[in-house]
Amino acid sequence: MSKVLSYAALSATENLQSHTIERRDVGLNDVEIDILYCGVCHSDIHMTRDEWGFNSIYPMVPGHEIVGKVISVGFDVKQFKVGDLVGVGCMVDSCQKCNSCVDGLEQYCESGSISTYGSLDTMHDNSVTYGGYSEKIVVDKNFVVRMPNNIDVKKTAPLLCAGITTWSPLRQWNVKKGDTVGIIGLGGLGHMGVKFAHALGCKVVMITTSQQKGEDAKKLGADEVLISTDTKAMEKYANKFDFLLNTIPVEHDVSSYVELLKRDATMVVVGSLAPLLGVHGTPLILGRKRIAGSLIGGIKETQEMLDFCGQHDIVADVEMIDIQNINQAYTRMIKNDVKYRFVIDMQSLKNS
Ligand code: NAP
Ligand code: ZN
Repeated sequence: MSKVLSYAALSATENLQSHTIERRDVGLNDVEIDILYCGVCHSDIHMTRDEWGFNSIYPMVPGHEIVGKVISVGFDVKQFKVGDLVGVGCMVDSCQKCNSCVDGLEQYCESGSISTYGSLDTMHDNSVTYGGYSEKIVVDKNFVVRMPNNIDVKKTAPLLCAGITTWSPLRQWNVKKGDTVGIIGLGGLGHMGVKFAHALGCKVVMITTSQQKGEDAKKLGADEVLISTDTKAMEKYANKFDFLLNTIPVEHDVSSYVELLKRDATMVVVGSLAPLLGVHGTPLILGRKRIAGSLIGGIKETQEMLDFCGQHDIVADVEMIDIQNINQAYTRMIKNDVKYRFVIDMQSLKNS
């Protein structure tokens, strides 16, 4: 075991603070990573405050957009070596045997995948997993991905969650060149959704509550902007979309978005684990429309997404912060005031 400095929530109602955790010794199949950067996902707020009612375990060290350098590897690790630039996303293990795992969809592991933080690591020692707001992490080799070397490293951390969560449904629903795609909500996930849909050759419409952010969305790759609170504008876009990606993080009424779908089109919900209000059978039945959900993405498709980002020069738009400012960052995220992902420079933790 080694002692590692981190930032943790000690309860659902306290601010995050400096805290020391223990990491397991490097096993035969493990990769030990010195963390350089960690993105700040809205899920970190939901989890530290136990907003999803998952009975969060405290102390909780959040962070599942981890980029770092390999500092040691276990005897049976052949694909990574000391010095490699690697990433870890939302999962650190799974049974690796069930149908989902064999299909490369470890996030749907039939035994339950092990989350990067806040899970009991039943595949190892039943200890609680701690995430990336820390100096170092030890992870099974099969849950480590290779980061592209040709793009700005600090801007790649958000690809590990915001990136894969938007990439996976775009691929799964075969979104293709020429499709009209609406991205709902311009936050960490949404801005990656805009970039990917644009890179795939789609006509991208940013669907936002914010006029000002809408203008920014065009710089990210959106062709058009639709203000979701403008009823008349929403009516103009009725039945126009081949695909909608809904990143809204809270309970909300989906009826006005369902109206936007063409016949046979799908809205994939990735943002809200709360009830979807306003789901009515009539528009779904009359238009053979679909509402679906999607959870992050598998390790294989995460690597594919990272390789795509390397080839197409895609990174997140980030605001760098020191770990000491994490609580202010949470407050700003709740006010929708971040363009478009906070990334923690972990040097700030090492300096403290
Ligand atoms: P975020 O940066 O806070 O962005 C969410 C965006 O949603 C906001 O910027 C805002 O965009 C819009 N929004 C917020 N409240 C709204 C409301 N009441 N009505 C309409 N729009 C609203 O969050 P994020 O990090 O992108 O995460 C989004 C959600 O995805 C979170 O709940 C997170 O937990 C979840 N998540 C899911 C997965 C998965 O696997 N499915 C993975 C990662 C994260 P505008 O200002 O443009 O309106
Ligand atoms: Zn996340």
